[in-house]
Amino acid sequence: MKFNEKLKNIATYEAGKPIELVVREFGIEPKDIVKLASNENPYGCSIKVQHAVDEILSHMAIYPDDSMTKLKEGLSRRFDVAEDELIIGSGSDQVIEFVMHAKAEGGKILTNSVTFAMYEIYAKHVGAQVIKTKSLKHDLDEFYELYKSENPDVIFLCTPNNPTGDAIDAAVMMEFIAKIDSDTLVVVDGAYMEYAAFKNEAKKVTPKELIKKFGNVIYLGTFSKAYGLGGMRVGYGISRAAIIKELYKLRPPFNITTLSLEAASVALEDEAFVQESIALNFEEMKRYEEFAKEQKIDIIESYTNFVTLCFDETRDSTEISDKLLRRGMIVRNLRGYGMNAIRVTVGTKDQNSRFFELISELL
Ligand SMILES: *Cc1c(COP(=O)(O)O)cnc(C)c1O
Repeated sequence: MKFNEKLKNIATYEAGKPIELVVREFGIEPKDIVKLASNENPYGCSIKVQHAVDEILSHMAIYPDDSMTKLKEGLSRRFDVAEDELIIGSGSDQVIEFVMHAKAEGGKILTNSVTFAMYEIYAKHVGAQVIKTKSLKHDLDEFYELYKSENPDVIFLCTPNNPTGDAIDAAVMMEFIAKIDSDTLVVVDGAYMEYAAFKNEAKKVTPKELIKKFGNVIYLGTFSKAYGLGGMRVGYGISRAAIIKELYKLRPPFNITTLSLEAASVALEDEAFVQESIALNFEEMKRYEEFAKEQKIDIIESYTNFVTLCFDETRDSTEISDKLLRRGMIVRNLRGYGMNAIRVTVGTKDQNSRFFELISELL
């Protein structure tokens, strides 16, 4: 059977290995498995969300509120933007997909060398060419050179970046965007911005400021990371109303379930929970930094809830991640990104202790 030609050179996205598969493949009990592969919040979500969800389960027969009023009001308050400057997606992933269809069909996108894998996959869906920088960390001079020579339709800035954890200085980023013409869309993916803002004020990008200054920018956020709602699939885009209006044309009806809308709305009301888990995250991250120092492993300074451990030639990230998996520890091998490294989500104290114990046996 013939399919869309564009599908030929697309590699299927591989999510962090689900616990269910490790149970089946290796016969390990779920209680003995630790998943530190997808940057979820190890402390779960606010208890308030859990109560709200119970309530929702009593009216599942009704379609969701497609105007998403409650969540839009919450986001509008949180970011001090208007409701028509917001679009909500089934994860910010879906907003990336909308952007690609709206702006990159048959065109070009520019991204960092190593970055969130979905930019490339969605680009290929619309036959867009992917131009990448060479540097591991975002080098905005290099971005600018490529912007001038390649004239991309969309530029993706992932800050903090996944899977390396580094972040761009907000002021430097603003200067860069000011040099970009008004017909090139700049996507600022802030999936881990809550973490970066906590760690260093200079890295904090404010969506309001971005869209006030620039008419060619969209900021993306998600409930999957700091808010602890990876299973609910809710993300958002913040941009000028004229851009949001175009993206809306691509949105499937009822793209967010009633359950997810409620969970995200209530999660926004419990900022204390989020800040507490972020504080714990950076406390625990120190242990990874110390561990790396002791073991002489390179660790990239991280503004997120994960660390990237880069090995030298004497060690192999594929072998290490496979061996960890057999022992019930799921981490992300970055070999597919051309790196001899693993990405490990900073877990709870016990999860991290388990990680150090297992990897020490291997090294
Ligand atoms: C996790 C992540 C997203 C989006 O996740 P969703 O679950 O689809 O909201 C977007 N960008 C980056 C860089 C991420 O790490």
